Amino acid sequence: MEQYDLIVIGSGPGGYVAAIRACQYGLRTAIVEKNRLGGTCLNRGCIPTKALLHAAQAYAGLQELGELGIHVENTGYDIEKIHERKRGVVDRLVGGVEGLLKANGADILYGEAKILSAGKVSVNGQCYMTDRILVAVGSAPARIPIPGIDTKGVVTSDELLEGEPVDYSSLVIIGGGVIGVEMATVYSALGCQVTILEGLDRLVSVLDKEFSQNLKMNFKKKGVEVILKANVTAIEPMEEGVRVLYESKGKPESVCAQGVLVSVGRRPQTAGLFAEGITPEMNRGFLVVNERFETSVPGIYAIGDVIGGIQLAHKAEAEGLACVAYMVGREPDTSVRVVPSCIYSSPEIASVGLTAEEAQERGIAVKKSKYLMSGNGKSIIEGEDRGFIKMVFDAETDRLLGVQMMCGRATDLISEFTGAIVNGWTRRQLLTGMRPHPSFCEGITEALEAAEGMSIHSAPVAKP
Ligand code: FAD
Ligand code: NAD
Repeated sequence: MEQYDLIVIGSGPGGYVAAIRACQYGLRTAIVEKNRLGGTCLNRGCIPTKALLHAAQAYAGLQELGELGIHVENTGYDIEKIHERKRGVVDRLVGGVEGLLKANGADILYGEAKILSAGKVSVNGQCYMTDRILVAVGSAPARIPIPGIDTKGVVTSDELLEGEPVDYSSLVIIGGGVIGVEMATVYSALGCQVTILEGLDRLVSVLDKEFSQNLKMNFKKKGVEVILKANVTAIEPMEEGVRVLYESKGKPESVCAQGVLVSVGRRPQTAGLFAEGITPEMNRGFLVVNERFETSVPGIYAIGDVIGGIQLAHKAEAEGLACVAYMVGREPDTSVRVVPSCIYSSPEIASVGLTAEEAQERGIAVKKSKYLMSGNGKSIIEGEDRGFIKMVFDAETDRLLGVQMMCGRATDLISEFTGAIVNGWTRRQLLTGMRPHPSFCEGITEALEAAEGMSIHSAPVAKP
């Protein structure tokens, strides 16, 4: 029987990265995948959504070229080609993962893994022995138990991104979280009539309130209808398309569309993974782990979406690397304590650390700052001048606690602050290096200065 040092189950960003690092550390490693390599992220998550978004925003950008003095006529798009390119991007990255796993010496076992004991895994009826098992099986879309949820035309992100391309003229999105907001951004850019039905009183409720208010305003301009506190009760088929029934402010309402996207969160994929008597401790299906990613069963580790918390590819990756480092007695290079969150809306949203409210709830006295990107040259040049950068500092120590930004390139700019929070940098330390001009990151210097009322490109709060 084949013997390994480590068997990784699941080849998403958590699993494949962990497997490569394990090989680099000299562990004899196998990785099991029941589907395509790359997991949710590469096949039906991060990558295909951003490929669609890139095309949709390029198309929407054409409609705005007149403002730049550029005339284009007869614009249009071909949804089949947009999806074909998306598939090309995905295939290239999946092929890259396969090549890297092989080049590093990992064995790839295709099939559904079942854990028979802490040292034994079966794949397609064949058994493999191993010293350790790393569970990185990820998550799958949640469904809501309402009548009509299986109606034709109702999809989750899986079918939308991996299924046949549909050129929606109208789309109802149930759930105004991260997927809901990103897919509304994609389809509204393509001219589709989008309605978001969100159960809570704001969009992306886990993030700063101001994001929701700004998103709602921006969506309104793009013709996206956002209905908050909507209680969806049923979905009915129509001759063409579907009708979604919901209650709003105590009144029954309905909205019709060509299709429905259900994006109400994701559940762990642990069903059937463990043989009887070997199941580690779980919490609502999520595996419970300690700070070294060990489950309650010695020799079985878990990382990524399946352990709950925020569900992000870079979090899964960092956890995979940290877990494998612990296995070989090393300290991880990257902290898993501070996780940046990004939403690829227009403008982009990025957030890391604590909001002012969260810090205050923890009894921390805070110093806050906010800089409006309407004073930033690059934002005006690129027509992205409606954004902001907010910062939260510990009033006593001057240390950075959190940053919330909605502006051009926010998803790139946020990284500076993840490191700053991990390393306990202060506002003054963040101000020591100059930032290039013209750039979006000049807004960071302004936000740092604004904490002391010293921003140069903002009107003074009170006249001297
Ligand atoms: P997954 O990527 O889910 O991979 C798990 C793998 O395990 C799968 O390939 C599955 O087939 C396999 N598997 C499961 N059970 C078994 C078994 N028994 N045997 C063998 N194989 C098995 N995150 C970001 O950071 N940025 C984004 O922009 C982003 N966009 C997203 C967009 C969408 C539409 C979605 C749905 C998610 C997005 N995410 C994004 C979240 C991100 O995709 C996940 O957080 C990430 O993929 C989790 O990685 P993972 O390795 O834990 O699991
Ligand atoms: P989510 O948790 O972000 O949002 C789900 C939303 O659905 C919530 O706002 C919730 O209140 C709402 N909801 C739940 N039940 C409802 C109901 N019955 N009716 C109306 N609204 C309802 O989940 P998601 O958008 O499905 O995304 C799943 C995960 O994927 C997220 O946790 C996110 O981390 C990850 N993701 C990340 C990115 C990114 O990093 N850019 C992009 C997409 C997805």
